[in-house]
Amino acid sequence: MRVLVAEFMHETNTFSVQATDESAFRNSCYYLDNDIPGAFADTRTSMGAAFEAAEKFGWSVIHPIVTSANPSGRVTDAFFDAVSERILNVCDGVDGVLLHLHGSMSTQSYDDGEGELLARIRSRIGIETPMVAVLDLHATLTQKMADNASSLISYRTYPHIDQYERTWQAAELLEKAMLKQVTPQVAVARRPILYALDGGRTTSPPMVELLRRADQIEASRQALVVSIQAGFSSADVHDIGPSIAVTGNDRGAAQAIAEELMDYVWEQRTFSSIQFTPLDEAIATAKAGEASATKPLIIADYSDNPGSGAYGDATNLLEAVLAADLKNVGFHAICDPEAVLQAQAAGVGNRVTLQLGGKTDPTMGGGPLEVTGHVVAITDGSFIAYGPMGGGARRNYGLSLLLRVGGVEIIVISHNGQATDLGQFTSLGVDPTRKSTLIVKSMQHFRAAFEPIARQILEVDTGALSTRNFKERPYKSVRRPIWPLDAI
Ligand SMILES: [Zn+2]
Repeated sequence: MRVLVAEFMHETNTFSVQATDESAFRNSCYYLDNDIPGAFADTRTSMGAAFEAAEKFGWSVIHPIVTSANPSGRVTDAFFDAVSERILNVCDGVDGVLLHLHGSMSTQSYDDGEGELLARIRSRIGIETPMVAVLDLHATLTQKMADNASSLISYRTYPHIDQYERTWQAAELLEKAMLKQVTPQVAVARRPILYALDGGRTTSPPMVELLRRADQIEASRQALVVSIQAGFSSADVHDIGPSIAVTGNDRGAAQAIAEELMDYVWEQRTFSSIQFTPLDEAIATAKAGEASATKPLIIADYSDNPGSGAYGDATNLLEAVLAADLKNVGFHAICDPEAVLQAQAAGVGNRVTLQLGGKTDPTMGGGPLEVTGHVVAITDGSFIAYGPMGGGARRNYGLSLLLRVGGVEIIVISHNGQATDLGQFTSLGVDPTRKSTLIVKSMQHFRAAFEPIARQILEVDTGALSTRNFKERPYKSVRRPIWPLDAI
Protein backbone atom coordinates (compact mmCIF):
# COMPACT_ATOMS: atom_id res chain seq x y z
CA MET A 1 0.00 0.00 0.00
CA ARG A 2 1.17 3.52 -0.83
CA VAL A 3 0.21 5.84 2.02
CA LEU A 4 0.53 9.61 2.09
CA VAL A 5 1.45 10.87 5.57
CA ALA A 6 1.56 14.58 6.38
CA GLU A 7 1.29 17.00 9.28
CA PHE A 8 -0.01 20.55 8.93
CA MET A 9 -1.07 22.06 12.22
CA HIS A 10 -2.23 25.45 13.35
CA GLU A 11 -4.69 26.64 15.96
CA THR A 12 -5.79 30.05 14.75
CA ASN A 13 -6.77 32.82 17.15
CA THR A 14 -8.68 35.05 14.75
CA PHE A 15 -8.53 37.92 17.28
CA SER A 16 -4.73 38.01 17.03
CA VAL A 17 -3.16 40.82 15.01
CA GLN A 18 -0.24 38.53 14.06
CA ALA A 19 -0.71 36.87 10.66
CA THR A 20 0.89 33.42 10.49
CA ASP A 21 3.15 33.17 7.48
CA GLU A 22 5.78 30.79 6.19
CA SER A 23 8.44 32.18 8.54
CA ALA A 24 6.24 31.42 11.59
CA PHE A 25 6.06 27.78 10.51
CA ARG A 26 9.75 27.62 9.64
CA ASN A 27 10.58 29.05 13.07
CA SER A 28 8.50 26.42 14.84
CA CYS A 29 8.46 23.08 12.98
CA TYR A 30 9.06 22.68 9.26
CA TYR A 31 10.42 19.51 7.67
CA LEU A 32 10.24 18.38 4.07
CA ASP A 33 10.59 15.00 2.36
CA ASN A 34 13.74 13.12 3.33
CA ASP A 35 14.40 15.23 6.45
CA ILE A 36 11.22 13.92 8.08
CA PRO A 37 12.11 10.34 9.09
CA GLY A 38 15.34 11.47 10.77
CA ALA A 39 13.50 14.05 12.85
CA PHE A 40 10.65 11.82 14.01
CA ALA A 41 11.56 8.12 13.77
CA ASP A 42 11.61 6.52 17.23
CA THR A 43 9.94 9.49 18.92
CA ARG A 44 6.65 9.29 20.83
CA THR A 45 5.05 11.77 18.45
CA SER A 46 2.31 11.45 15.89
CA MET A 47 4.85 11.05 13.09
CA GLY A 48 6.79 8.56 15.19
CA ALA A 49 3.65 6.41 15.39
CA ALA A 50 2.97 6.78 11.66
CA PHE A 51 6.43 5.47 10.76
CA GLU A 52 6.11 2.53 13.19
CA ALA A 53 2.69 1.67 11.73
CA ALA A 54 4.09 1.84 8.21
CA GLU A 55 6.75 -0.65 9.20
CA LYS A 56 4.22 -3.00 10.80
CA PHE A 57 1.79 -2.91 7.85
CA GLY A 58 4.47 -2.80 5.16
CA TRP A 59 3.34 0.53 3.73
CA SER A 60 5.37 2.52 1.33
CA VAL A 61 5.14 6.03 2.81
CA ILE A 62 5.11 9.32 0.95
CA HIS A 63 5.81 12.17 3.38
CA PRO A 64 5.86 15.56 1.66
CA ILE A 65 5.68 17.82 4.73
CA VAL A 66 5.51 18.03 8.52
CA THR A 67 4.89 21.55 9.75
CA SER A 68 3.27 23.37 12.63
CA ALA A 69 3.40 26.84 14.16
CA ASN A 70 2.52 28.22 17.54
CA PRO A 71 -1.09 29.44 17.75
CA SER A 72 -1.45 32.95 16.35
CA GLY A 73 -3.51 34.84 13.78
CA ARG A 74 -4.84 33.63 10.43
CA VAL A 75 -2.56 31.54 8.23
CA THR A 76 -1.63 33.41 5.07
CA ASP A 77 -3.21 32.21 1.83
CA ALA A 78 0.25 31.96 0.28
CA PHE A 79 1.49 29.46 2.84
CA PHE A 80 -1.77 27.48 2.99
CA ASP A 81 -1.80 27.14 -0.80
CA ALA A 82 1.88 26.18 -0.89
CA VAL A 83 1.40 23.37 1.66
CA SER A 84 -1.79 22.21 -0.06
CA GLU A 85 0.02 22.06 -3.40
CA ARG A 86 2.94 20.15 -1.88
CA ILE A 87 0.48 17.52 -0.60
CA LEU A 88 -1.69 17.46 -3.74
CA ASN A 89 1.37 16.98 -5.95
CA VAL A 90 2.00 13.54 -4.45
CA CYS A 91 -1.62 12.36 -4.14
CA ASP A 92 -1.92 10.48 -7.41
CA GLY A 93 -2.06 6.72 -7.01
CA VAL A 94 -2.07 6.59 -3.21
CA ASP A 95 -4.08 3.88 -1.46
CA GLY A 96 -4.66 5.90 1.70
CA VAL A 97 -4.00 9.20 3.44
CA LEU A 98 -3.03 9.67 7.09
CA LEU A 99 -2.96 13.27 8.30
CA HIS A 100 -2.10 15.00 11.56
CA LEU A 101 -4.01 18.30 11.65
CA HIS A 102 -5.16 20.62 14.39
CA GLY A 103 -8.75 21.18 13.31
CA SER A 104 -8.99 24.87 14.28
CA MET A 105 -6.95 26.43 11.48
CA SER A 106 -8.35 29.53 9.80
CA THR A 107 -6.68 31.09 6.80
CA GLN A 108 -7.08 34.54 5.30
CA SER A 109 -9.70 33.13 2.90
CA TYR A 110 -11.12 30.13 4.76
CA ASP A 111 -12.47 30.06 8.31
CA ASP A 112 -12.35 26.25 8.04
CA GLY A 113 -8.79 25.61 6.85
CA GLU A 114 -8.86 21.86 7.49
CA GLY A 115 -12.23 21.47 5.73
CA GLU A 116 -10.75 23.18 2.68
CA LEU A 117 -7.56 21.11 2.78
CA LEU A 118 -9.48 17.83 3.14
CA ALA A 119 -11.83 18.83 0.29
CA ARG A 120 -8.88 19.60 -2.00
CA ILE A 121 -7.24 16.25 -1.23
CA ARG A 122 -10.56 14.41 -1.60
CA SER A 123 -11.14 15.92 -5.03
CA ARG A 124 -7.73 14.55 -6.08
CA ILE A 125 -7.85 11.04 -4.55
CA GLY A 126 -11.53 10.30 -5.32
CA ILE A 127 -14.28 9.08 -3.01
CA GLU A 128 -13.00 5.49 -2.66
CA THR A 129 -9.59 6.21 -1.12
CA PRO A 130 -9.69 6.27 2.69
CA MET A 131 -8.37 9.40 4.41
CA VAL A 132 -8.04 9.49 8.20
CA ALA A 133 -7.10 12.61 10.15
CA VAL A 134 -5.84 12.84 13.72
CA LEU A 135 -6.96 16.11 15.31
CA ASP A 136 -6.35 18.14 18.42
CA LEU A 137 -8.93 17.88 21.20
CA HIS A 138 -9.55 21.61 20.59
CA ALA A 139 -10.56 21.11 16.97
CA THR A 140 -13.53 23.07 15.65
CA LEU A 141 -15.33 20.47 13.58
CA THR A 142 -17.29 21.31 10.47
CA GLN A 143 -19.60 19.35 8.19
CA LYS A 144 -17.07 19.94 5.39
CA MET A 145 -14.39 18.14 7.39
CA ALA A 146 -16.76 15.26 8.19
CA ASP A 147 -17.89 14.97 4.56
CA ASN A 148 -14.36 14.76 3.17
CA ALA A 149 -12.58 12.61 5.77
CA SER A 150 -13.20 8.89 6.29
CA SER A 151 -12.52 9.30 9.99
CA LEU A 152 -11.62 12.11 12.40
CA ILE A 153 -9.85 11.06 15.61
CA SER A 154 -9.07 13.60 18.33
CA TYR A 155 -6.70 13.35 21.25
CA ARG A 156 -8.29 12.09 24.44
CA THR A 157 -6.02 13.92 26.87
CA TYR A 158 -5.60 17.56 27.95
CA PRO A 159 -2.71 18.18 28.57
CA HIS A 160 -2.24 16.44 25.19
CA ILE A 161 -0.01 13.45 25.77
CA ASP A 162 -1.58 10.86 23.44
CA GLN A 163 -0.77 12.07 19.92
CA TYR A 164 1.25 8.87 19.50
CA GLU A 165 -1.58 6.57 20.63
CA ARG A 166 -4.23 8.35 18.54
CA THR A 167 -2.08 8.14 15.42
CA TRP A 168 -1.64 4.41 15.97
CA GLN A 169 -5.45 4.15 16.27
CA ALA A 170 -5.81 6.11 13.03
CA ALA A 171 -3.22 3.96 11.24
CA GLU A 172 -4.94 0.72 12.28
CA LEU A 173 -8.30 2.02 11.04
CA LEU A 174 -6.72 3.21 7.79
CA GLU A 175 -5.18 -0.22 7.20
CA LYS A 176 -8.57 -1.91 7.67
CA ALA A 177 -10.22 0.61 5.37
CA MET A 178 -7.59 0.10 2.65
CA LEU A 179 -8.18 -3.67 2.93
CA LYS A 180 -11.94 -2.94 2.63
CA GLN A 181 -12.70 -4.60 5.97
CA VAL A 182 -14.50 -1.42 7.01
CA THR A 183 -16.09 1.51 5.15
CA PRO A 184 -15.68 4.38 7.61
CA GLN A 185 -17.81 7.52 7.41
CA VAL A 186 -18.03 10.40 9.88
CA ALA A 187 -21.12 11.88 11.51
CA VAL A 188 -20.76 15.10 13.49
CA ALA A 189 -23.11 16.59 16.08
CA ARG A 190 -23.05 20.06 17.64
CA ARG A 191 -25.31 22.33 19.71
CA PRO A 192 -25.52 26.12 19.99
CA ILE A 193 -22.61 26.29 22.43
CA LEU A 194 -19.57 28.54 22.15
CA TYR A 195 -17.58 27.06 25.05
CA ALA A 196 -18.14 24.07 27.35
CA LEU A 197 -16.56 20.85 28.61
CA ASP A 198 -14.38 22.85 31.01
CA GLY A 199 -12.24 23.88 28.05
CA GLY A 200 -11.57 20.20 27.35
CA ARG A 201 -9.85 19.40 30.65
CA THR A 202 -9.84 15.62 30.69
CA THR A 203 -9.41 15.71 34.46
CA SER A 204 -12.91 17.21 34.89
CA PRO A 205 -16.23 15.34 35.20
CA PRO A 206 -17.81 16.18 31.79
CA MET A 207 -14.84 14.94 29.72
CA VAL A 208 -14.22 12.00 32.06
CA GLU A 209 -17.82 10.83 31.59
CA LEU A 210 -17.81 11.39 27.82
CA LEU A 211 -14.55 9.51 27.38
CA ARG A 212 -15.92 6.66 29.52
CA ARG A 213 -18.98 6.42 27.27
CA ALA A 214 -16.80 6.71 24.16
CA ASP A 215 -14.59 3.83 25.30
CA GLN A 216 -17.68 1.73 26.00
CA ILE A 217 -19.20 2.42 22.57
CA GLU A 218 -15.92 1.61 20.79
CA ALA A 219 -15.41 -1.57 22.89
CA SER A 220 -18.92 -2.82 22.12
CA ARG A 221 -18.32 -2.10 18.41
CA GLN A 222 -21.36 0.13 18.03
CA ALA A 223 -18.99 2.55 16.31
CA LEU A 224 -15.45 2.44 14.95
CA VAL A 225 -14.35 5.69 16.65
CA VAL A 226 -16.00 8.13 19.03
CA SER A 227 -14.16 11.44 19.06
CA ILE A 228 -14.89 14.33 21.41
CA GLN A 229 -13.78 17.87 20.62
CA ALA A 230 -13.95 20.74 23.08
CA GLY A 231 -13.55 23.26 20.26
CA PHE A 232 -11.54 26.48 20.31
CA SER A 233 -13.23 29.62 21.58
CA SER A 234 -10.65 32.22 20.49
CA ALA A 235 -11.89 32.14 16.92
CA ASP A 236 -14.66 34.15 15.37
CA VAL A 237 -15.95 31.39 13.10
CA HIS A 238 -19.41 30.05 12.31
CA ASP A 239 -18.74 26.49 13.50
CA ILE A 240 -17.23 27.42 16.88
CA GLY A 241 -17.83 25.17 19.87
CA PRO A 242 -17.67 21.60 21.10
CA SER A 243 -18.61 18.65 18.91
CA ILE A 244 -18.85 14.89 18.79
CA ALA A 245 -17.62 13.00 15.72
CA VAL A 246 -18.56 9.36 15.39
CA THR A 247 -17.02 7.14 12.73
CA GLY A 248 -19.02 4.11 11.65
CA ASN A 249 -19.80 1.91 8.69
CA ASP A 250 -23.30 3.42 8.72
CA ARG A 251 -23.55 7.17 8.92
CA GLY A 252 -27.13 7.16 10.26
CA ALA A 253 -26.24 4.96 13.23
CA ALA A 254 -23.14 7.06 13.86
CA GLN A 255 -25.22 10.25 13.81
CA ALA A 256 -27.60 8.86 16.48
CA ILE A 257 -24.69 8.09 18.80
CA ALA A 258 -23.15 11.53 18.22
CA GLU A 259 -26.46 13.30 18.98
CA GLU A 260 -26.99 11.40 22.22
CA LEU A 261 -23.50 12.26 23.48
CA MET A 262 -23.99 15.87 22.43
CA ASP A 263 -27.17 16.03 24.57
CA TYR A 264 -24.91 15.33 27.53
CA VAL A 265 -22.53 18.13 26.48
CA TRP A 266 -25.51 20.51 26.43
CA GLU A 267 -26.63 19.39 29.91
CA GLN A 268 -23.12 19.96 31.28
CA ARG A 269 -22.41 23.28 29.52
CA THR A 270 -22.07 25.37 32.70
CA PHE A 271 -19.50 23.14 34.42
CA SER A 272 -16.20 24.89 35.16
CA SER A 273 -13.24 23.99 37.35
CA ILE A 274 -11.34 27.17 36.51
CA GLN A 275 -10.91 29.36 39.62
CA PHE A 276 -8.98 32.56 39.13
CA THR A 277 -7.06 33.97 42.09
CA PRO A 278 -6.82 37.79 42.17
CA LEU A 279 -3.28 38.78 41.14
CA ASP A 280 -2.43 40.55 44.43
CA GLU A 281 -3.59 37.49 46.38
CA ALA A 282 -1.41 35.20 44.24
CA ILE A 283 1.64 37.43 44.78
CA ALA A 284 0.96 37.55 48.55
CA THR A 285 0.80 33.74 48.64
CA ALA A 286 4.15 33.56 46.84
CA LYS A 287 5.71 36.06 49.25
CA ALA A 288 4.40 34.25 52.32
CA GLY A 289 5.77 30.87 51.24
CA GLU A 290 9.06 31.77 49.54
CA ALA A 291 11.38 31.45 52.57
CA SER A 292 10.28 27.99 53.68
CA ALA A 293 9.45 26.52 50.26
CA THR A 294 10.89 23.16 49.34
CA LYS A 295 8.84 22.99 46.13
CA PRO A 296 7.68 25.82 43.88
CA LEU A 297 4.33 27.56 43.95
CA ILE A 298 3.20 27.84 40.32
CA ILE A 299 1.32 30.91 39.16
CA ALA A 300 -0.17 30.27 35.72
CA ASP A 301 -1.35 33.19 33.60
CA TYR A 302 -4.35 31.82 31.71
CA SER A 303 -4.88 34.96 29.65
CA ASP A 304 -1.41 35.34 28.09
CA ASN A 305 -1.20 31.68 27.04
CA PRO A 306 0.72 31.49 23.75
CA GLY A 307 -0.88 28.06 23.33
CA SER A 308 -4.17 29.74 22.48
CA GLY A 309 -2.69 32.49 20.36
CA ALA A 310 -2.00 35.11 23.04
CA TYR A 311 1.13 37.17 22.42
CA GLY A 312 3.16 35.86 25.38
CA ASP A 313 4.62 39.33 25.91
CA ALA A 314 2.13 40.73 28.43
CA THR A 315 3.88 42.37 31.37
CA ASN A 316 1.24 42.90 34.10
CA LEU A 317 2.30 39.71 35.90
CA LEU A 318 6.06 40.41 35.59
CA GLU A 319 5.53 43.94 36.87
CA ALA A 320 3.70 42.59 39.96
CA VAL A 321 6.43 39.98 40.62
CA LEU A 322 9.21 42.58 40.40
CA ALA A 323 7.30 45.15 42.48
CA ALA A 324 6.84 42.59 45.27
CA ASP A 325 10.60 41.88 45.23
CA LEU A 326 9.95 38.13 45.23
CA LYS A 327 12.97 35.90 45.75
CA ASN A 328 14.06 32.78 43.88
CA VAL A 329 11.55 33.04 41.02
CA GLY A 330 11.69 31.40 37.60
CA PHE A 331 9.60 33.35 35.06
CA HIS A 332 8.57 31.80 31.72
CA ALA A 333 8.37 33.82 29.59
CA ILE A 334 8.32 37.10 27.72
CA CYS A 335 8.41 36.71 23.94
CA ASP A 336 10.44 39.64 22.70
CA PRO A 337 12.98 38.98 19.91
CA GLU A 338 14.11 42.62 19.91
CA ALA A 339 15.01 42.53 23.63
CA VAL A 340 16.95 39.28 23.18
CA LEU A 341 19.06 40.87 20.45
CA GLN A 342 19.77 43.90 22.66
CA ALA A 343 20.86 41.61 25.50
CA GLN A 344 23.05 39.65 23.09
CA ALA A 345 24.69 42.90 21.99
CA ALA A 346 25.31 43.81 25.66
CA GLY A 347 26.91 40.40 26.15
CA VAL A 348 26.69 37.59 28.69
CA GLY A 349 27.79 38.74 32.17
CA ASN A 350 26.92 42.38 31.56
CA ARG A 351 24.09 44.56 32.77
CA VAL A 352 21.46 45.74 30.36
CA THR A 353 18.40 47.98 30.48
CA LEU A 354 15.53 46.83 28.29
CA GLN A 355 12.05 47.93 27.38
CA LEU A 356 10.77 44.42 27.84
CA GLY A 357 7.61 42.93 26.30
CA GLY A 358 4.20 44.51 25.76
CA LYS A 359 5.04 45.50 22.20
CA THR A 360 2.51 43.50 20.16
CA ASP A 361 -0.55 45.15 21.69
CA PRO A 362 0.07 47.14 24.90
CA THR A 363 -3.66 47.07 25.71
CA MET A 364 -3.51 43.29 26.16
CA GLY A 365 -2.12 42.58 29.63
CA GLY A 366 0.43 45.37 29.94
CA GLY A 367 2.80 47.37 27.74
CA PRO A 368 6.62 47.55 27.65
CA LEU A 369 8.27 47.35 31.07
CA GLU A 370 11.66 48.95 31.72
CA VAL A 371 13.91 46.48 33.50
CA THR A 372 17.62 46.48 34.29
CA GLY A 373 19.29 43.15 34.93
CA HIS A 374 22.20 40.80 34.29
CA VAL A 375 22.50 38.89 31.06
CA VAL A 376 23.04 35.41 32.54
CA ALA A 377 22.82 33.30 29.41
CA ILE A 378 21.99 33.42 25.73
CA THR A 379 21.12 30.19 23.89
CA ASP A 380 19.85 29.34 20.43
CA GLY A 381 16.59 28.16 22.05
CA SER A 382 16.81 24.66 20.65
CA PHE A 383 16.68 21.52 22.81
CA ILE A 384 15.05 18.11 22.96
CA ALA A 385 11.85 17.98 25.02
CA TYR A 386 11.72 14.73 26.99
CA GLY A 387 8.66 15.59 29.12
CA PRO A 388 5.21 13.96 28.78
CA MET A 389 4.19 16.33 25.98
CA GLY A 390 7.58 16.46 24.28
CA GLY A 391 7.85 12.90 23.04
CA GLY A 392 11.62 13.22 22.63
CA ALA A 393 11.35 15.58 19.66
CA ARG A 394 13.39 18.76 19.19
CA ARG A 395 11.89 22.14 19.96
CA ASN A 396 13.03 25.60 19.00
CA TYR A 397 12.11 28.89 20.68
CA GLY A 398 14.67 30.93 18.77
CA LEU A 399 17.44 33.00 20.28
CA SER A 400 16.71 32.97 24.03
CA LEU A 401 17.84 35.00 27.03
CA LEU A 402 18.05 34.42 30.76
CA LEU A 403 17.86 37.81 32.44
CA ARG A 404 18.33 38.08 36.23
CA VAL A 405 16.58 40.99 37.92
CA GLY A 406 16.98 40.80 41.69
CA GLY A 407 15.64 37.40 42.73
CA VAL A 408 13.76 36.84 39.49
CA GLU A 409 15.18 34.85 36.58
CA ILE A 410 13.27 35.89 33.48
CA ILE A 411 13.33 33.80 30.32
CA VAL A 412 12.94 35.86 27.16
CA ILE A 413 12.29 33.99 23.91
CA SER A 414 12.16 34.91 20.23
CA HIS A 415 9.63 32.31 19.02
CA ASN A 416 6.50 32.23 21.10
CA GLY A 417 5.37 29.15 23.04
CA GLN A 418 3.77 28.17 26.34
CA ALA A 419 5.59 26.36 29.14
CA THR A 420 4.99 22.62 28.75
CA ASP A 421 8.42 21.08 29.38
CA LEU A 422 10.98 21.46 32.17
CA GLY A 423 13.59 21.80 29.41
CA GLN A 424 12.27 25.29 28.73
CA PHE A 425 13.90 26.24 32.08
CA THR A 426 16.82 23.79 32.26
CA SER A 427 18.07 24.57 28.74
CA LEU A 428 18.84 28.08 30.02
CA GLY A 429 20.42 26.86 33.25
CA VAL A 430 17.41 27.27 35.58
CA ASP A 431 16.48 24.33 37.81
CA PRO A 432 12.68 24.71 38.17
CA THR A 433 12.50 22.19 41.02
CA ARG A 434 14.65 24.48 43.22
CA LYS A 435 12.61 27.65 42.71
CA SER A 436 10.27 29.04 45.39
CA THR A 437 7.92 30.37 42.73
CA LEU A 438 7.52 29.54 39.04
CA ILE A 439 5.55 31.69 36.65
CA VAL A 440 4.15 30.09 33.50
CA LYS A 441 1.85 31.36 30.80
CA SER A 442 -0.45 28.44 30.10
CA MET A 443 -4.04 27.36 30.65
CA GLN A 444 -3.65 23.65 31.30
CA HIS A 445 -0.78 22.09 29.30
CA PHE A 446 1.82 23.13 31.89
CA ARG A 447 0.31 20.64 34.32
CA ALA A 448 1.72 17.56 32.56
CA ALA A 449 5.32 18.49 33.38
CA PHE A 450 4.95 21.05 36.19
CA GLU A 451 2.18 19.72 38.45
CA PRO A 452 4.42 16.87 39.70
CA ILE A 453 7.07 19.35 40.91
CA ALA A 454 4.68 21.96 42.39
CA ARG A 455 3.58 22.54 45.98
CA GLN A 456 0.54 24.51 44.82
CA ILE A 457 -0.93 25.95 41.61
CA LEU A 458 -2.76 29.26 41.27
CA GLU A 459 -4.39 30.48 38.07
CA VAL A 460 -4.62 34.18 37.27
CA ASP A 461 -6.19 36.23 34.47
CA THR A 462 -4.09 39.35 33.80
CA GLY A 463 -6.30 40.68 31.00
CA ALA A 464 -4.20 39.52 28.06
CA LEU A 465 -5.62 38.35 24.72
CA SER A 466 -6.96 34.98 25.90
CA THR A 467 -8.99 36.36 28.76
CA ARG A 468 -11.97 34.17 29.58
CA ASN A 469 -14.47 36.99 29.40
CA PHE A 470 -16.32 35.83 26.24
CA LYS A 471 -18.92 38.57 26.31
CA GLU A 472 -16.26 41.24 25.79
CA ARG A 473 -14.90 39.63 22.65
CA PRO A 474 -15.97 41.08 19.31
CA TYR A 475 -17.57 37.94 17.86
CA LYS A 476 -19.28 38.66 14.53
CA SER A 477 -19.25 35.42 12.52
CA VAL A 478 -20.32 32.84 15.11
CA ARG A 479 -23.78 31.36 14.55
CA ARG A 480 -26.48 32.90 16.74
CA PRO A 481 -28.14 32.35 19.05
CA ILE A 482 -25.32 30.67 20.94
CA TRP A 483 -24.73 30.02 24.62
CA PRO A 484 -23.36 31.80 26.67
CA LEU A 485 -23.58 34.95 24.50
CA ASP A 486 -27.34 34.51 24.20
CA ALA A 487 -29.86 33.30 26.75
CA ILE A 488 -30.99 29.94 25.41
ZN1 LIG B 1 -5.42 21.54 22.15
